[in-house]
Amino acid sequence: MSAIELRSLTKVYPGGVTALDSLDLVVPDGEFFALLGPSGCGKTTLLRTIAGLETATSGAVVLGGRDVTGVQPGARDLAMVFQDYALFPHMDVTDNIGYPLRIKKVAKATRGAKAREVGDRLGLGHLMDRRPGQLSGGQQQRVALARVMATQAQAFLFDEPLSNLDARLRLEARTFLKKLQRELGVTTVFVTHDQAEALAMADRMAVMEAGHIRQIGTPAEVFQRPANTFVASFIGSTPMNLLDGHVRGDTLEVAGHPVAVPSSAAGLLTDGEKIVYGVRPEYMSYSADPVDGAFAGKVAIVENLGASHLVTLELGSALVQALVPEGREPAPGHTGYALPRADRSLAYRDG
Ligand code: ADP
Ligand code: MG
Repeated sequence: MSAIELRSLTKVYPGGVTALDSLDLVVPDGEFFALLGPSGCGKTTLLRTIAGLETATSGAVVLGGRDVTGVQPGARDLAMVFQDYALFPHMDVTDNIGYPLRIKKVAKATRGAKAREVGDRLGLGHLMDRRPGQLSGGQQQRVALARVMATQAQAFLFDEPLSNLDARLRLEARTFLKKLQRELGVTTVFVTHDQAEALAMADRMAVMEAGHIRQIGTPAEVFQRPANTFVASFIGSTPMNLLDGHVRGDTLEVAGHPVAVPSSAAGLLTDGEKIVYGVRPEYMSYSADPVDGAFAGKVAIVENLGASHLVTLELGSALVQALVPEGREPAPGHTGYALPRADRSLAYRDG
């Protein structure tokens, strides 16, 4: 088990695409680290470069204090799980799990015993003689995990391993994988484009955009204080309200309303400055009666999310959304008031 360190890592593909742009990252020993970003931002390239399947254009990959930048993938002692699991269709579960040990020239009997031990642990004990084509998607995913566990690698690299599972299985696999990583304590980099998955699973996470890391922090830090409007709009199950505004004396004017300056921006803004005001629908309290400092508007849309409703208020051309607990939701057409929490609202200069 080892820390993973990337120093000014750059990857330019032939043809000129810069997939990683001078990226620095330290994942401490034993951490579950999630790498989140939209399609094409460089997540797979980052994992493959750590694994040695891609050669870095410049910069260094350091594993457990050892510079492995020029080292062959097989000698890096890492285990990677791909989106499609990459199981061998002609091998049974035992041989699939034991395959990396075969590469390491471990004797057949030892391989079989290890495969059974890990298979049992992952609830595959009764399926050891089946081939991948005779397994469900969730079972195949467990075989891929078991194969990784059997290798006793220094670190695990996961490239969107849950994205081929249906919604319910994905939730189960998420909990299961997280628990397993806790027990094994192996340093893990988990790539996903699903923000909920990153928030739920990670000890710490990074948000990537176009070859750059835009923010690193705990899920709570990234959720509560996104570093810029890109991160703000990427994180959250309901989109964050991002509204143009400007500083007017001691308050902000946002969508024509006077709003308290966010605590995090207190003393940092100058009079007249243009800003983008951000607050999550979760951090708005909704009322049918007028409230000081609240956004007032016509209720345009009410979306049922189960235990809560997402209420969209129309304020001229701007839209403001608030999450309202079940039973307190208004009917469309009424006037509603949404009061932002000053300690959970943000003011950005990068809009
Ligand atoms: P992600 O996994 O976040 O979707 P990738 O790492 O696959 O992103 O890709 C990052 C960028 O590098 C994209 O613009 C992609 O088109 C480009 N890219 C990926 N692989 C190659 C390759 N083998 N040759 C050229 N460009 C590539
Ligand atoms: Mg990818």
